Amino acid sequence: MEPLLPVLLIVLIVVAVLIGGGALLLNRRGGGTATLEPPPSPSAPTAPTIEEPPVVVEPDAPTKVSLRDRLGKARSSLSGFMGSVLSRAAIDQDTWDEMEEALIRADVGVGTTTHILDRLRDTVAADGITESAVLLDALKAQLKADLAGGDRSLRHEPGGPNVWLFVGVNGVGKTTTIGKVGKQQADLGHRIVMAAGDTFRAAAAEQLEAWAERAGADLVRGAEGGDPSSIIFDAVQRAAARGSDLVLADTAGRLHTKVNLMEELRKVRRVADRDPGQVTEVLLVLDATTGQNGLVQAQQFTDAVELTGVVLTKLDGSAKGGIALAIQSTLGIPIKLVGLGETVDDLVAFDPDEFIDALFSAD
Ligand code: GDP
Repeated sequence: MEPLLPVLLIVLIVVAVLIGGGALLLNRRGGGTATLEPPPSPSAPTAPTIEEPPVVVEPDAPTKVSLRDRLGKARSSLSGFMGSVLSRAAIDQDTWDEMEEALIRADVGVGTTTHILDRLRDTVAADGITESAVLLDALKAQLKADLAGGDRSLRHEPGGPNVWLFVGVNGVGKTTTIGKVGKQQADLGHRIVMAAGDTFRAAAAEQLEAWAERAGADLVRGAEGGDPSSIIFDAVQRAAARGSDLVLADTAGRLHTKVNLMEELRKVRRVADRDPGQVTEVLLVLDATTGQNGLVQAQQFTDAVELTGVVLTKLDGSAKGGIALAIQSTLGIPIKLVGLGETVDDLVAFDPDEFIDALFSAD
């Protein structure tokens, strides 16, 4: 058997070589296991595993943005002339001319501008003001004083459902404002019924329905072209029956004639005020971008229904913030709310001091 030993050795070596080669081959193919991972490139450096810090998102964190930051175009609408006024050594006729032009350009209106500057001249004489910087400070103080005063709160009275009527011409933002107010008031804990009283505009009720859903409010709507008074009456009844304390009533901004519209608004107000309802706010919604024209129309609403306040919308899109001054002096009604965009957070309380500072801000 001795001559068999070398043969066996050779066989063993061949088998060992074959097994080793196969293992190497299998290893190269990923050990026979299907994998989608590409093989690591020999030249690519191995990236260290970096633990990314978690991104903290606070979805509903209230963003406290000042009125000044949000005024958009209206901001600094009076500041343009500040540089030239300030650059003058003395207060002369050119100073007054520049101030007048700036106020009129900012939509303050001719009558209101004259009234403002007449009083400022009195202050200059009485206080012996000679420096431009002091003059501008006096102007700012006077404008702030003009806007101050008046009750800017939204009234809630105990008893039956409070009714807040929203009036104004078409397209000024009545329906949107009701939606925003509804959501804000609901967040404050009030139980809301919305009344789709703008039966003249087909889309208004659908628009209001979407807002009502967001606010968790009830919606009362009627047939297109129906009687707004009966819708608002039904809304008050429903509010009383369900223990809701606030009815937000939309109204039409257009009818076949203005006389009809004003008559209808008077009727709506009377009906809404019937027991158990009580009208505690009649808010005129005004579009800041329509400037002095809007103001003329507003006067007609003021004459027809007793207004308690103004909502000035679309101030984000107007470069003429001076309209607020014109409203106050022409209508003598406090601006209660300001619209600065289309979302619910874009309706803010009107702060006269912040507003005037923003109009004069240098940026
Ligand atoms: P209504 O006819 O008076 O009810 O007016 P709407 O509520 O239908 O509003 C007319 C348009 O103005 C809509 O496109 C609103 O989204 C828009 N709008 C309302 N308020 C504001 C605001 O404060 N700023 C801006 N930029 N748009 C607004």
